[in-house]
Amino acid sequence: MALAVSTSSTSAISGSSFSRASSNHNELRAPQIGSFHLLDRPHAASIALNVSQRRSSVKPINAEPKRNGSIVPLAATIVAPEVVEKVDVKVEDYDQLAKDLNGASPLQIVDKALEKFGDDIAIAFSGAEDVALIEYAKLTGRPFRVFSLDTGRLNPETYQFFDAVEKHYDIHIEYMFPDAVEVQALVRNKGLFSFYEDGHQECCRVRKVRPLRRALKGLRAWITGQRKDQSPGTRSEIPVVQVDPVFEGMDGGVGSLVKWNPLANVEGKDVWSFLRAMNVPLNSLHTKGYVSIGCEPCTRPVLPGQHEREGRWWWEDAKAKECGLHKGNLKQEEAGVNGNGLAHANGSADVADLFDTQDLVTLSRPGIENLLKLENRKEPWLVVCYAPWCRFCQAMEDSYVELAEKLAGNGVKVGKFRADGGQKEFATQHLQLESFPTVLFFPRHSSKPIKYPSEKRDVDSLMAFVNALR
Ligand code: SF4
Repeated sequence: MALAVSTSSTSAISGSSFSRASSNHNELRAPQIGSFHLLDRPHAASIALNVSQRRSSVKPINAEPKRNGSIVPLAATIVAPEVVEKVDVKVEDYDQLAKDLNGASPLQIVDKALEKFGDDIAIAFSGAEDVALIEYAKLTGRPFRVFSLDTGRLNPETYQFFDAVEKHYDIHIEYMFPDAVEVQALVRNKGLFSFYEDGHQECCRVRKVRPLRRALKGLRAWITGQRKDQSPGTRSEIPVVQVDPVFEGMDGGVGSLVKWNPLANVEGKDVWSFLRAMNVPLNSLHTKGYVSIGCEPCTRPVLPGQHEREGRWWWEDAKAKECGLHKGNLKQEEAGVNGNGLAHANGSADVADLFDTQDLVTLSRPGIENLLKLENRKEPWLVVCYAPWCRFCQAMEDSYVELAEKLAGNGVKVGKFRADGGQKEFATQHLQLESFPTVLFFPRHSSKPIKYPSEKRDVDSLMAFVNALR
């Protein structure tokens, strides 16, 4: 893997030598997700094109390492590339295009993206199952580019996978690295694992978001592997194509970059069916229980039935599970609330209270102190420590109220304790409060409460926790 970073690497691209291998149609006859029909395009021999001339005007991804080899996959050049017209991002109606392509297969969407943007588009490859995008790009028969963010904190398996993908597709992935001075400052000031203490945003900003921003400044469009089913609540409105709501492209300014999400409407299991059917190289971490794969310290395997996003930044709150990379898809912005929700812990009196139902007991400070003292109680208790201004508490209001209704008269008391403001210190010391909301189960025969460890706050998950302990 080349580590040299060049900011004037036009030659690394314009000097590319393209393969002119003939197309092998058998390669193209492969099972697809959705109702894909083979793309019908003339063979390489039928078009004579001065490719190096065409590519000489292409702005590279900024930090493309200088290489002798082409960044264009040999497999992708089996069919002649078409002359690409420059697309005026601002003129195209991408809302309409997204509607038009909503029922299209990923292959058709990737093909349309590559057709429209040619050398000014690249696939963002994370080193996980989004290798499907590379496979689709290959199947289109068009040239394509791939970039990836090397944060310096990836698993060894991911680096081996990058290498396997480069060899399998005969491509050079354009790696983007974080700024050395910024990483140095972060690590010297805060250590190597600051994200466990104060959230992943700062580290991600340095190691991922800024390198991504640099990469995108060399493009007019990018292709991501985002799917609606990956992060419920935050990715549910991903269109298959959109003017990028967050990042800028090479022309600068709002609307200068187009984001393609060919897998938006595809479910994870269907991506996997496709990968298996196509015999695509895979990250070996998948065989060890990893589903979503990111940096080594921030990724863990998940159990059967757990959502894949539970394997990422698991120590933080469920809805904060975005790296900043795709923040435009979040319905609610952070709005000054940090990852653990304690930024506003001084409390605010002008916010409506939560969990207002007769099935739920409002505990005062003496009330919860009493619960902490009792070694034996008639019934176990479930108590949420909350702050009414906290959007995560607000988000679980319906499920917690429903749970209280279900448990009413069924041998488990349900309560709430407002733990912000003056109660924060007490709650931190005695109620295991690290973030809002914190849900505690007080067993019948013990004074020590058990903290609900999961980020799933739906009724069924909370009920499973209660039933396991009652
Ligand atoms: Fe840093 Fe973790 Fe983000 Fe990687 S995922 S950039 S290690 S905080």
